[in-house]
Amino acid sequence: MKRITILGSTGSIGRSTLEVLRLHPEDFEVFALAARSSREALLEQCLRFAPRYAVLEDARAAGLLRAELQGQGSRTEVLAGAEAMLRVASDPEVHMVMAAIVGAAGLDSALAAARAGKRVLLANKESLVVAGELFMRAMRDGGGELLPIDSEHSAILQSLPEQRERWALDVREITLTASGGPFRRSDPATLEAMTPAQACAHPNWSMGRKISVDSATMMNKALEVIEAHYLFGMPASRIRVLIHPQSIVHSMVTYHDGSVVAQLGVPDMRTPIAYGLSWPRRMASGSSWLDLARIGRLEFEDPDAARFPGLGLAFAALGMGGGACAVLNAANEVAVQAFLDGALRFTDIHRVNAATLEALGASQARELGELLDLDARARGRAAAQARALGR
Ligand code: NDP
Repeated sequence: MKRITILGSTGSIGRSTLEVLRLHPEDFEVFALAARSSREALLEQCLRFAPRYAVLEDARAAGLLRAELQGQGSRTEVLAGAEAMLRVASDPEVHMVMAAIVGAAGLDSALAAARAGKRVLLANKESLVVAGELFMRAMRDGGGELLPIDSEHSAILQSLPEQRERWALDVREITLTASGGPFRRSDPATLEAMTPAQACAHPNWSMGRKISVDSATMMNKALEVIEAHYLFGMPASRIRVLIHPQSIVHSMVTYHDGSVVAQLGVPDMRTPIAYGLSWPRRMASGSSWLDLARIGRLEFEDPDAARFPGLGLAFAALGMGGGACAVLNAANEVAVQAFLDGALRFTDIHRVNAATLEALGASQARELGELLDLDARARGRAAAQARALGR
């Protein structure tokens, strides 16, 4: 019986994780569920999964949840605040931690799980974008296992040789596929007026709002390039992005002998989640079966750099090193939130990101304190820029 903590349990990945766990009650026990403030959703999850702990970042919401759970006779203990997240991420009784908080807010708890030697199921790509070297060091020092949950990185892991030492020797390049999002074929002149609802209407995947906007700008793929660099130790020059509108080939590895190994499946996050939970074995995920005859065609094309300028920022930030990736991530979080709030145009997300990277990307920050300080400065700079461009 493996005990698991789910950070971000009320989000899209958190809910999919619980769906997979429901299929395997004899193998997994939910130790803790954590979220920011979604009290009602967490109440429902606690009643269904009876975790030992429920954590809400928001203390007021936690107080209400505590009273509601007690009223229902639940024995789940409710904790509040960021310190409690670290506690349930690193508790000695926990085997696995699903790190599925959105944004840089998920870094501290993911790091705590890494340092404590847990199996870290990493959905929170921002942890690697903000503090890639530090996070990988924490994983090595902690002695746990890092299983990527992003479907692309899970696909790469499934396509790489089992022996890690062969990765650098045998692999020519890795290719991350991207659906191209909802605006792949839109007239570029119309992008400026796109609304949050249009940007969040992803053709293949059902996801949280932040990552959905990132898919529309392709900043999601930019963040994934950075994530792949740290996860697999690949230089940026050996990471490629390919548009694949059907989202069936989740990513691929090209070997020096000309072979290309890919992982395919229907677009359903329960598959990479189940892989992370059961690795190195396989178990049912609840996802439907891939029927290639019904799909008929798989198409591929290079991304259009003019339509998706954000992608280039990932390679620029990796080239700059230091804290540049943290700057890019912070700017993007601020710009996307401003867009979702109706305060920034879709096309201005890129302007905010590019200007913030240019202003602060040269920082050589490496340690956690320096990176968090840089993150805060980049947020301030990006917010000012968003206000200046805002409508
Ligand atoms: P959602 O927006 O759906 O959910 C975010 C979760 O994080 C919620 O449970 C939210 O709680 C919680 N949360 C937010 N801020 C805090 C905080 N400060 N402290 C504690 N909890 C917090 O996001 P997704 O599930 O879509 O994405 C989660 C992560 O997974 C992201 O990093 C994303 O890039 C990555 N990912 C997502 C994929 C997907 O298909 N959705 C695919 C691949 C990667 P509350 O509900 O209370 O606000």
